[in-house]
Amino acid sequence: MSSAQFGFRTVEAEEKTSLVKGVFDAVASRYDLMNDAMSFGLHRLWKRAFISEAAVRNSMRCLDVAGGTGDIAFALLKAGAAHVTISDINNAMLNEGRKRADDRGILQKVEWLCANAESLPLPDNGYHLYTIAFGIRNVTHIDKALAEAHRVLAPGGRFLCLEFSKVNMELLARAYDSYSFNVIPKLGKWIAGDGAPYQYLVESIRTFPAQEKFSAMIEKAGFKQVRHINMSGGVVAIHSGYKI
Ligand code: SAM
Repeated sequence: MSSAQFGFRTVEAEEKTSLVKGVFDAVASRYDLMNDAMSFGLHRLWKRAFISEAAVRNSMRCLDVAGGTGDIAFALLKAGAAHVTISDINNAMLNEGRKRADDRGILQKVEWLCANAESLPLPDNGYHLYTIAFGIRNVTHIDKALAEAHRVLAPGGRFLCLEFSKVNMELLARAYDSYSFNVIPKLGKWIAGDGAPYQYLVESIRTFPAQEKFSAMIEKAGFKQVRHINMSGGVVAIHSGYKI
């Protein structure tokens, strides 16, 4: 039986997927509010940089995996994509996304798919752009999700991942740790009524592979021209690669 990290806890691999699902069931209705509160709105700037890196064109077929409540998909549409498929393992998150898309009058431009990033019910070579933002560290078998990203992308297609990463400045790292462990779970309790999902959030960030190690995993999945860009001193990084 294989094991996986659920935050700082080692659990059976199969168990992790349902524990993560429980986390996002618990936070779905307050997810967007908490993102702004925890990051002081910084997640909007990170996502903006991510979208600009995507260099979207109208003709691109775009797939946003672990798309949750739709931030990335909506921004891809705004940047010029004609249509986006959002895939996520959690229906509660997708339902929040559907409500937001409806409010914006863009429901018909989005296809919603409830699926695990590790086994996408999608054809080979179907997409020009695969995005995953703050999603991949929640996946139990990251190597399987990367293999699926490679499979569903068309030759020439691009893999783009936005994820928390390793802070590369000593002082910032200490301040960030203190904020993460002392403030974020409390904020979760005040705003969303439960601190536990946010304790998982900060722990999962610490157990996710650092920039170089994650780049090596992307290369191992078959991607070429793999590179990363750090933002906010490495608090987050954009990783990218091409399927040749
Ligand atoms: N991409 C959105 C954003 O940037 O706001 C949502 C990110 S949210 C932190 C992480 C999302 O990953 C959740 O919606 C969760 O349901 C989803 N997720 C977790 N494990 C997954 C898996 N194995 N396959 C697909 N989605 C998954």
